[in-house]
Amino acid sequence: MKRRVGGLETEFGLVCVRADGTRALEPEAAARELFRPVVAKGRSSNVFLTNAARLYLDVGSHPEIATAECDDWWELVAQDRAGERILADLAQQANQRLADDGQDARIHLLKNNVDSEGNSFGSHENYLVDRRGEFTRLPRFLLPFLVTRQIVTGAGGVVRDEDGARFVFSRRSDHMWEAVSSATTRTRPIINTRDEPHGDPSRFRRLHVIVGDSTMSEVSTHLRFATTDLVLRAIESGRTLPDLALGDDIAAIRSVARDLNGHEPIPTAAGGTTTALEVQQRWLDVAAEHAEPGDPQEQQTLQTWQKALDAVRTGDRSWAATNLDWAIKERLFGQVAKRRGVDLGDPAIERLDLAYHDIDPERGVFAALARRGLAPRVLADDVIERARTVAPTSTRAHLRGQVVTAAQQYGVDHVVDWTTLRLTRPGAMPVQLLDPFTTESVEVDALLAEIRAAGTTVDPPLPA
Ligand code: ATP
Ligand code: MG
Ligand code: MG
Repeated sequence: MKRRVGGLETEFGLVCVRADGTRALEPEAAARELFRPVVAKGRSSNVFLTNAARLYLDVGSHPEIATAECDDWWELVAQDRAGERILADLAQQANQRLADDGQDARIHLLKNNVDSEGNSFGSHENYLVDRRGEFTRLPRFLLPFLVTRQIVTGAGGVVRDEDGARFVFSRRSDHMWEAVSSATTRTRPIINTRDEPHGDPSRFRRLHVIVGDSTMSEVSTHLRFATTDLVLRAIESGRTLPDLALGDDIAAIRSVARDLNGHEPIPTAAGGTTTALEVQQRWLDVAAEHAEPGDPQEQQTLQTWQKALDAVRTGDRSWAATNLDWAIKERLFGQVAKRRGVDLGDPAIERLDLAYHDIDPERGVFAALARRGLAPRVLADDVIERARTVAPTSTRAHLRGQVVTAAQQYGVDHVVDWTTLRLTRPGAMPVQLLDPFTTESVEVDALLAEIRAAGTTVDPPLPA
């Protein structure tokens, strides 16, 4: 697929603590407080926003934002960052209400993947793929790439093994239990095969990759999507590909997480061995053959990917330590542990890891590092700010965004999902958008006209 639609679902960790750090509210109660304005406005804890994203509260009290469908990976990063700001604002409002109420309680939202009880939650990538392509053939080629991708896009962190605490590319690797399956929580596969295309099922499938870490760095998030897209394109080309199938994907993902030089042998299905660096370099070289020579974004992706691999290969982290999440943390944790004379297993490092993922723009460690030039800021502030309210314009998200915006503006009740737009009045006909690439529709134009007409007969909407 030359042009591909993708979206990112981010579940946030939520804690509500007193000034002394002890738990103030149970997660369920804190989540309810957080979502109070959402429920007041949309009468539900599952709503679509004017930027065409879905904001909802799933079981387990992890607030989630699923970005709108994007066909440009920097647009996707902008939508993801906008989602962070939307949730950070909700947290700030909730904290103000708690303070006004005299409660010693503060909500923190963490864009991370593992909570203090060791539960893992997700950052799910969605990629549109062709139904006619051999979906069953995909995992064989994609899995070795996904297992080793953490050396580029991992969020970094500390795990405790028999021989003590150590830094890893990704803590989530220890929480993956299967390579491919249709379950998301029980067995937690790398690729989820549940067949929900959110589009015309005769033409499309949605590839659901659930192995990824929640990344704070825009460079890391961009690389996740841009490199996976190029690898998918190479697989879809039908040309001969390197068969790098691993002997045991789950054993491999755990050992790769711990191999900070990327050069430990990994058994292959064919009976030999490979290394994380070798798998990534082979895919980078194949991707380069399938990328557009004249496309500056794709060329930039290849260069950045190569820089990331070089940082692992050479041990020279100077570029990576201000650009990639795992390397930013590796340096930061090392410095703090040294300064305090503690090892990486110290609770201070665990707190620092949580604070790194705190999306509060004032208190979060990632944001503080970015202000000091120690973490990347690629997107201009106004681009992220705009993505808070405006949907991507080159996919059907544009149409959904227009309908939600108009319906809110005119105070007209509506229900929306990824493929359907409908007013809730009796007899209203749903508009189906089964092609994620659609950006124009006479039916949506008619729906917008209907919203404006209906809106003139109701009271003006309450201020947000
Ligand atoms: P849940 O998370 O509730 O189990 P789900 O996996 O369907 O359900 P949502 O949270 O609703 O996920 O998010 C769907 C994601 O898929 C969004 O980010 C959206 O942009 C993206 N998406 C929607 N349609 C497509 C498509 N046809 N191809 C690829 N991605 C899509
Ligand atoms: Mg979801
Ligand atoms: Mg999902």
